[in-house]
This record gives sequence, C-alpha cells and structure tokens, in this order.
Amino acid sequence: MSPTPREVTVNLFKSGSPLIGKVLENRRLTASDRPPENDVRHIVLSSDGLSYLPGQSVGVVPDGYDGRTGKHQNLRLYSVSSESKGDQKDGKTVSVVVVRHFWREPEVPEVQVAGVCSRYLCDCEVGEKVKITGPVGKRFLLPLDFHSRDLIFIATGTGIAPYRGMLTEMFTRNYHGKAFLFFGVRYADTLLYDDEFRSYVDRPNFRYITALSREAEQNPYPEEIPTVANKMYVQVRLWEHRVELGESLAKPDTLVFICGLKGIEKGVFSVIDRIGELNGETDLSKRLKAEQRILLEVY
Ligand SMILES: Cc1cc2nc3c(=O)[nH]c(=O)nc-3n(C[C@H](O)[C@H](O)[C@H](O)COP(=O)(O)OP(=O)(O)OC[C@H]3O[C@@H](n4cnc5c(N)ncnc54)[C@H](O)[C@@H]3O)c2cc1C
Repeated sequence: MSPTPREVTVNLFKSGSPLIGKVLENRRLTASDRPPENDVRHIVLSSDGLSYLPGQSVGVVPDGYDGRTGKHQNLRLYSVSSESKGDQKDGKTVSVVVVRHFWREPEVPEVQVAGVCSRYLCDCEVGEKVKITGPVGKRFLLPLDFHSRDLIFIATGTGIAPYRGMLTEMFTRNYHGKAFLFFGVRYADTLLYDDEFRSYVDRPNFRYITALSREAEQNPYPEEIPTVANKMYVQVRLWEHRVELGESLAKPDTLVFICGLKGIEKGVFSVIDRIGELNGETDLSKRLKAEQRILLEVY
C-alpha cells in the first residue's frame, strides 16, 4: 500500500524574497575533540511564517558572491530536523543539523577548503540574521495514515535529521506500528541526537540500532554482506535484524525511508533483496520502489 498523498506547502519563501530568521541556538552535537570535519551542529532559527513538515528541507542563502560565477551565492538545502511545530513547539522556529563540509582541489590536494554555507552556518552566532527559503520536498514525508504502518528508517550522518521530527510526531500521535531506526556514523561520539533516540527505546514498538564504522566492531558477515575492510556499515545491521525486518517487509503497508550521503542506497537495496530471497522473493527492493514504499533522500 503506497503512502497516502498529503497536501504539502512548498516554496513559501524564495531566494529573491527570503524569510529573515535569527539564530536562536547553535550547539555542537559531536565531541569537541573530534577534528573539524566531524563538527556537526544543531542550529535553531526563528522562522515565523514558515510552515513545514519533517522530511522537507529549507534553503539557506549565504552572504557573498560565488568566485566562479561572480553571482550571489546560491542557496543550500538542509533537511529540517525539528517536528512541524519546531523545537520550541510554538510554530515559530525551524531546526537544522549541519556538518562542516571540506573539499580539496585536485591541483592543490594538500589544502583543505571549507564549504561556503556549512562554514557560515556552523560559525553563526546567536542573534545573527539568516536568509531562509522553502520549504521544499513533497515525497519524503510521513504519510497521513502512518499510525499503524511499520516504518523502517535508515540514515547515515546528517541523514538522521528528518527522523528526529518524524519520531517526535509519531510518538505524540498515537503511533502503534513498529518503527526501526538504523543509524550509521563513524564514531560513537558522533551519533547525532543519540540521547533523544535512546529516550524512546523502552517503547515496545521501537528499535534503535547504530552502526559505527570506525570503532572496533567488525562486520561479522563478510561473505553475505561484504563491506570495505569489513567495516560495520548500516547494511550489516540490517542483515543482523533480517528476521524482524523480513516480518515487517512482508506486511503490505510497511515503508522504508533512506536518508544520507549519495551511495547509501546501494548497500541497503542489496540487503533488502537478500531479505526478500530468504522469504522466497527476488528483487524485493524493485517491487517496493514500484509501490512507492521506498522513500529516498540522498545528497
Ligand atoms: C535535499 C538536501 C538535503 C540536505 N540536507 C543536509 C543536511 O541536513 N545537513 C547538511 O549538513 N547538509 C545537507 N545537505 C547538503 C548541503 O545542501 C550542502 O551541499 C553542504 O552543506 C555543502 O555546502 P557548502 O556551501 O558548505 O559547500 P560548497 O562551498 O557549496 O562546496 C560544495 C562542493 O562544491 C564544489 N566546489 C565549491 N567551490 C568550488 C570551487 N571554487 N571550485 C571547484 N569546486 C568547488 C566542491 O566539490 C565542494 O565539495 C543537503 C542537500 C540536499 C540536496
């Protein structure tokens, strides 16, 4: 059963006439002794007049000009990490989770260049004004009839953002399906919003499963689910939970959400297919995609 379409508002604010929000909070979510590329921040912006749903993204327009085009900097998108009423529950704020991005020019590989917008946001001070656009996104949303569906959420890194708001909304609105949250990061102290997700684990219908790719634990299934240097990737955890997942995937209305860096989906689809094979079906991921039961947000 595909998700029931829902009415969503998009593009209330555009680059030419953005909403001017203010930074209300800018807090580091990762341990402070981690190197800068592990600097991930929870940023709360005032956003009176912007309505949105978890799963949508907002744009941020950084100041200044793009040296390559000579034009104003373009907006960058960030997934909303708050519930639709915002962290302050008054409908006047939006939260995002931003990782400080770095890249290297092939000609000067020794120099690390900071991304424009992520640096701007990570360094912004409380009280600073920020140009906000959006919201955008009509697909990666909880369906209206989420209450009894099993929901499988899979994330790496900042891909966790949409699930924070979705889980808050589910657990305050009589959710009685079964929800899984699979979350992959490199180190234990880079697990974003870990305390918040742990606060749900006593619920009988919630599973929170983490995969730490740079800690000591190795992939125990290198034959079935090969990973680079036997690292503990999120797809290994999916395989570890293949029986429970197989039961959920056999239900006609279960949805799978995948969010994170581009490429995450490949390993996830192949495990879904293997779980399907255990239950006598080939190409399960293909069928789920055709039924719009796999929702994907990668960047
Ligand atoms: C739907 C969606 C949701 C997203 N959600 C999040 C989120 O929740 N959290 C998050 O942290 N990010 C998210 N992103 C990514 C985010 O939009 C930005 O892409 C990211 O923050 C990097 O932007 P930046 O301005 O810091 O880097 P940029 O300065 O834009 O650099 C990005 C890349 O552009 C290239 N580049 C830049 N300048 C040059 C140059 N002068 N010459 C050659 N190449 C160059 C490099 O390859 C570099 O790696 C999302 C993206 C999408 C599409």
